[in-house]
Amino acid sequence: MGLSNASLAKTISGLTRDGDIYDRLPDHAVRCHACGHRCFIPENRPGICKVRFNEGGTLKVPWGYVGALQCDPVEKKPFFHALPGALALSFGMLGCDFHCAYCQNWITSQAIRDPKAVAPPEKVTPDALVQLARQQGAAVLASTYNEPLITSEWAVAIFREAVRAGLMCAYISNGNGTEQVLEYIRPYVRLYKVDLKSFRDRSYRDLGGTLRNVLDTIVLLKRKGFWLEIVTLLIPGFNDSNEEIRDIARFLAGVSPDIPWHVTAFHKDYKMTDPDDTPVSTLLRAAGIGRQEGLRYVYAGNIPGAVGDFENTRCPACGALLVARVGYRILDYRVTRGGTCPDCDAVIPGLWHGGVEHAQADSPRTTSGEADDRSPGVGAARRGAGA
Ligand code: SF4
Repeated sequence: MGLSNASLAKTISGLTRDGDIYDRLPDHAVRCHACGHRCFIPENRPGICKVRFNEGGTLKVPWGYVGALQCDPVEKKPFFHALPGALALSFGMLGCDFHCAYCQNWITSQAIRDPKAVAPPEKVTPDALVQLARQQGAAVLASTYNEPLITSEWAVAIFREAVRAGLMCAYISNGNGTEQVLEYIRPYVRLYKVDLKSFRDRSYRDLGGTLRNVLDTIVLLKRKGFWLEIVTLLIPGFNDSNEEIRDIARFLAGVSPDIPWHVTAFHKDYKMTDPDDTPVSTLLRAAGIGRQEGLRYVYAGNIPGAVGDFENTRCPACGALLVARVGYRILDYRVTRGGTCPDCDAVIPGLWHGGVEHAQADSPRTTSGEADDRSPGVGAARRGAGA
């Protein structure tokens, strides 16, 4: 028999350490900056995520365990412009700052909140995880399965060892970040995937966040030089209108046309069982809109073999096939060791085999790299978020 929810909460409350990403306040209260909620936490209370809590004026944070551990292709995260075909050792802890009804990782993310979500934690050390990554032949170590921002102290402890061992480190995140947490992880995290779940603030509030904070985080990630890829899980009736898809694509192109955008298919999961599974036609429609809005790298996922060229990477300058894929499998890889197209020498943004990295360009819609506050996409989003 597994752990009960209450005994799980008790177990993980012992697997903690003093946090770094917070301020002490009067009367033994604290303010946490690990995610966009920026919880004010009175003494002896938890934050919204339930896994960070104030003990006598000190913020205690998760430490020393994993709730899930698996080795997958990096394409599954998904990253398509970072070491194609490499393996990524993925670990997660427990808890989340959102409560999405369709979460595919709800066993770990909703542990403690949902009585049915009980994933026993397994104690582990950073060194053991790095050794395991090397044994498995992984080139990437990824914090995923729950929201990594809320367990950033532990991720950084692991990633410090991982970077020393030559691994590339990744966050698979909902993007509900803060300037403080991004600065904290920046020396170690190279790859960052954000789930941009909607372009409607009302929908974000249903999931437990705000649109504005996620958009601001995307702008910050680009400005701070993380390699950024975005996923939008298209859910029929939730976020699949032409207008909303276009809003998302326009916003991303306004940050950088080089941001890979993955539109992926929903399958019934967790508490969201009403909508139909996403049809191929919706993926193709969304991918087409992404291209129209100026995104150079648009991918359609979760229905392998059915979306034609939208699984492949092509050179935006000459159209040459650079990476051919079906699902998570690489069929052909033609990016040069200099990170360019072999046919026309165009620079291809990404982190390629051979050690070359090419950053994502600023949007041509803005001047001199100041895409953030003056971006039309961000401005529009801010107006939407405040409405
Ligand atoms: S990680 Fe987010 S939800 Fe958790 S305590 Fe900190 S600010 Fe609150």
